[in-house]
Amino acid sequence: MSTEMPLFSNALKQLDQALTYTKLHEDTVSMLRQPKTVIQFSIPVRMDNGALKVFKGYRIQYSDARGPAKGGIRFHPQVNMDEVQSLAFWMAIKCAVVNIPFGGGKGGVRVNPKELSKAELERLSRGYINGVADYIGPDRDIPAPDVYTDETVMAWMYDQYCVIKRQQLPAVITGKPVALGGSLGRGDATGRGGFYVMQALRQELALSGEAPTIAIQGFGNAGTHFAQLASAAGYRVVAVSDSKSGIYNPNGLNIEATIAEKKKTGQLVANGLEKPISNAELLELNVDVLVPAALEDQITVKNADKIKAHVVLELANGPTSFDADQILFKNGVTVLPDILANAGGVTVSYYEWVQNRAGHYWPIEKVHTELNTTISQAARDIYKFKTDRKCSVRDAAYALALARLGSAIESHGTQTYFGKA
Ligand code: NAD
Repeated sequence: MSTEMPLFSNALKQLDQALTYTKLHEDTVSMLRQPKTVIQFSIPVRMDNGALKVFKGYRIQYSDARGPAKGGIRFHPQVNMDEVQSLAFWMAIKCAVVNIPFGGGKGGVRVNPKELSKAELERLSRGYINGVADYIGPDRDIPAPDVYTDETVMAWMYDQYCVIKRQQLPAVITGKPVALGGSLGRGDATGRGGFYVMQALRQELALSGEAPTIAIQGFGNAGTHFAQLASAAGYRVVAVSDSKSGIYNPNGLNIEATIAEKKKTGQLVANGLEKPISNAELLELNVDVLVPAALEDQITVKNADKIKAHVVLELANGPTSFDADQILFKNGVTVLPDILANAGGVTVSYYEWVQNRAGHYWPIEKVHTELNTTISQAARDIYKFKTDRKCSVRDAAYALALARLGSAIESHGTQTYFGKA
């Protein structure tokens, strides 16, 4: 693998390591090592001041072996092919982990959305769909929100797709506002899914004592909802951070007050009881559970040995590098990997797609119950595999997912099958 794609080569190392625990035909492995479709395109946007700016857009459909490609669209200044391809690969694995009938995809735009006005952001979102409209669709590839894209962005994108196709096709995009066919419970699904995983394994992870402590890096959609649920369930969230700052209180933060303050000021501000904390310090806190919920590559060989948490629950995608993962395993830290811990979002996206296609909408209780059943079962199956095979939770999750992907690919026949003819 080219050195220009370090994140993707990391992802392939995870794949190779997991192949120790599951047997796949070599045809299957060669299919899984590369994306099916890669699209790179330009998005010209007329800015409010009259100037034209051209942004770089990406969409990758990594695999459709188990169903249409599925995955979010990220707006971030660092978006690049390596990142999108890795995220698309992880989506293919993730959908197989929770056994939903989707392949994997991902998209992005290299942009700092904080520098755009609302109207510029709308033009960019519609421009993205103009670039990919021929490649996506309810039975082909279904985008969703990711970092710095939200339900309003999804509403613009969905509308643009309907304008182009001249029909209402709500199942083309998930994470839409409820008024436009979004599912109840999609907003907090990623954080909630991570919380259900933690609860399903509470005993095994030795988290049944009084008020286990948690530190969360990234206080956006995933991190905030996880913090709310954990705090309401009696865990002590002692530190949270975002791209600008962080706050720490060993006695536990008041999460609802922290959310209200961030909404008001746009920042995490330390009051009298709290101390400011840097992202690096937060990651190294002596807590029961560390939750990276921001971006990839946060735990690397540089800080892996300094991680004191007993459990790392990856709400972000790819926050731990391959080499750091080996160090954490050696040090006895249990990593609940992204492909399981943050699969709640795509699981409820699947429920949204099902509801859109049926034209029949579920009450919130059904969404929560179905999510809890699906993700907790996946967590228990994976943990049992890990215990039986004495491997990491990540290897176990990959092994089970790869077996599902392998069955789908190999159902079309393999070299051995055709060789017999
Ligand atoms: P978001 O945009 O709502 O929040 C991202 C948060 O990370 C923000 O608080 C931001 O300030 C913070 N952040 C950014 N750079 C940081 C840095 N260098 N250090 C510390 N904090 C930083 O995004 P989100 O939807 O919560 O996604 C967060 C992670 O979860 C991403 O890796 C995403 O791929 C993953 N994820 C999200 C979903 C979902 O449904 N939202 C689903 C699966 C995975």
